[in-house]
Amino acid sequence: MPAIETLPDAHGHFGVYGGMFVPETLMTALHALAAEYDRAKNDAQFQNQLARLLRDFAGRPTPLYFAERLTKKLGGAKIYLKREDLLHTGAHKINNALGQILLAQRMGKNRIIAETGAGQHGVATATVAARFGCECVVYMGAVDIERQALNVARMKFLGAKVVTVTAGQATLKEAISEAMRDWVTNVRNTHYILGSALGSHPYPMMVRDFQRVIGEETRKQIFDREQRLPDLLVACVGGGSNAIGLFHPFLSDASVRMLGVEAGGEGIQSGKHAARFQGGRLGVLQGTKTFLLANEDGQIELTHSISAGLDYAAIGPEHSYLREIGRVEYDFATDDEALAGFKLLSEAEGIIPALETAHAVAHIAKVAPKMPADKIIVMNCSGRGDKDVATAAKHLLLSEVEGSR
Ligand SMILES: *Cc1c(COP(=O)(O)O)cnc(C)c1O
Repeated sequence: MPAIETLPDAHGHFGVYGGMFVPETLMTALHALAAEYDRAKNDAQFQNQLARLLRDFAGRPTPLYFAERLTKKLGGAKIYLKREDLLHTGAHKINNALGQILLAQRMGKNRIIAETGAGQHGVATATVAARFGCECVVYMGAVDIERQALNVARMKFLGAKVVTVTAGQATLKEAISEAMRDWVTNVRNTHYILGSALGSHPYPMMVRDFQRVIGEETRKQIFDREQRLPDLLVACVGGGSNAIGLFHPFLSDASVRMLGVEAGGEGIQSGKHAARFQGGRLGVLQGTKTFLLANEDGQIELTHSISAGLDYAAIGPEHSYLREIGRVEYDFATDDEALAGFKLLSEAEGIIPALETAHAVAHIAKVAPKMPADKIIVMNCSGRGDKDVATAAKHLLLSEVEGSR
């Protein structure tokens, strides 16, 4: 068996997961992309250009912040936050968008398309497209357009065309299908910047590699601060890009536990959730074989999460593999727990997290008090909560205002 760090194989397999399940018309484009990425990865000029953009445009390195008041409040392990929320555009998505726009430039493709759920990836893509003077089209479900109005306006200001997708559940899955349809038609001049560690090979590998900078920085920073490895890494998992970015550089450190938090929605029994590892099954969706929420006939089930960025029926294939071999554990947090996490981090640290991130906060609130004070947790603070203030207010503030009257 190959070392975990060297996966996937040449065809994009992480064990039985991953692969390239796409229409024939896209195979050429995907092979060309994989070949270009392979060349770029080993090209010092590409890596330098990316490092410069990450530093000067996106704001890397992000701090590793000791959450002193949260640690005290929870009364257990020491909690550090990796501050991806401080990046330009407000989340980790910009790391991947910058890597991919440079690849598009190398391939001479000046038209950029993307899908988006919470709008964070759409904003990151529209931002890098503006930075490089590319035409940009972002596909977004009608439901998400409504709950993420701020990000829709941002994309438009950045010069992107936002296309409303009304098919099916009108969220991320349908937006990805539309983006793939566009790509099939316009593949000659168009690059598809996929936003998570999902889809056909080479995307899960490539997106992971572009997000690995999170874990690489964390490693250096925790050694500077604590002169040792952390005991537990925690991140929320939608497609799984911020989580794999943090986890991957630590995979061969056996003493480091890792835990991904999925969206438990209104609870697993309610059926209204997006926790693929809670009753999900092996299947193929949008280019990859992985765990997904489907019925016995393989039909994709409706998903629900208060956070649009975690509201997707499939999980990135590498996560399915890491769970199977027992290297990474997975848990879930419900909408209500995430809202409590949102409030907790805001009040304890003066950091308003994205509702996606708040799922990771919710998990820490459960486990930190049970861990001794000499243990260290690093939580990936994947994004900031500006985009979610209206949603959180609807659930949290308004009831308080009404209650006090
Ligand atoms: C998109 C998003 C996520 C979920 O995506 P992953 O690929 O699982 O990281 C999590 N947090 C924030 C802030 C996001 O914008």
